[in-house]
Amino acid sequence: MAKIAEVVAKSVKPTFSIELWPPRSPAAEAKLEQALPILAALHPTFTSITYGAGGSTREKTHDLVLRIKRETPIEPMAHVTTAAHSKSELVSILERYLAAGVENILALRGDPPLSGDLELPPGELIYAIDLVKLARSLGDFSITVAAHPQGHPDSPNLKVDRFRLARKLELADMAITQFFFVADDYFRLVDDLDKLGVSKPVLPGVMAPTSLKTLERMAELSGAKIPDRVRQLLYGAGNDANAIKSIGVGIATELSEELLKRGAPGIHVYTMNEAGTTVEICKRLGLG
Ligand code: FAD
Repeated sequence: MAKIAEVVAKSVKPTFSIELWPPRSPAAEAKLEQALPILAALHPTFTSITYGAGGSTREKTHDLVLRIKRETPIEPMAHVTTAAHSKSELVSILERYLAAGVENILALRGDPPLSGDLELPPGELIYAIDLVKLARSLGDFSITVAAHPQGHPDSPNLKVDRFRLARKLELADMAITQFFFVADDYFRLVDDLDKLGVSKPVLPGVMAPTSLKTLERMAELSGAKIPDRVRQLLYGAGNDANAIKSIGVGIATELSEELLKRGAPGIHVYTMNEAGTTVEICKRLGLG
């Protein structure tokens, strides 16, 4: 068993990790089946596996986490969200992972799915920090949390956001950021945390945008700002899927190169279960 935060903190070279989604349809299942061996061949340090807040992918997330653990050499990190769950439900999710030998989790509040307009009811535990505390009380987890380089949209301002993140990360072991497009935003976040006395690893989350519409929706939910340059590049590609893919890979690679050159501990790629773009990013960066 490997504690991912320790592996990242001790790594002498930049780590490369990925995020996967549990598939929700037969077509998505087939896509993941195709992508998994290709992504495994890149030897990622770990893969995180998303969770549909409110439990919409509860079993699917659990099954994919365990499958990755048993059938691949990749270490899984299970996302868990507080939203719409009772405390006893969260305890049972966490205890099931402990029993299966899964000790790496990403503790989150959770957001409604991209396609839905419904608000999620809050859970019995409201914030991610409450889940960090619960997981700590249950077992020897390695706990990662989310960070938002440009601030979380529910925060009144960046200063408050940073303060709350620092308190959360103090209790956790590592953070992974929401996607962003400007390297300075990441380094400002790391500097601010440092000034607040927290110097745990913060992995930048990098996404190769594949559609302007999806990107706009994701940005609205997450508080990430889309620079005009990125918007114009994607808009300029029209409906040409290959052109969009190539532009997306270019944007992600350029950003990753700058992040690594300036000292980021690694890169966490939001694969969206798409092997091709991730392989291309890896190849261009000389990672994997
Ligand atoms: P929190 O840390 O709880 O923060 C949420 C808001 O509450 C912030 O504005 C914060 O400032 C505020 N807050 C915190 N503490 C307090 C307090 N004591 N008093 C008042 N306000 C407070 N979503 C999913 O549904 N499933 C996933 O699998 C998933 N994976 C993700 C992976 C990564 C790497 C990231 C960055 C995000 C992911 N998300 C996922 C999205 C995430 O759930 C949303 O960004 C959510 O809106 C906030 O989650 P959080 O864990 O940062 O919340």
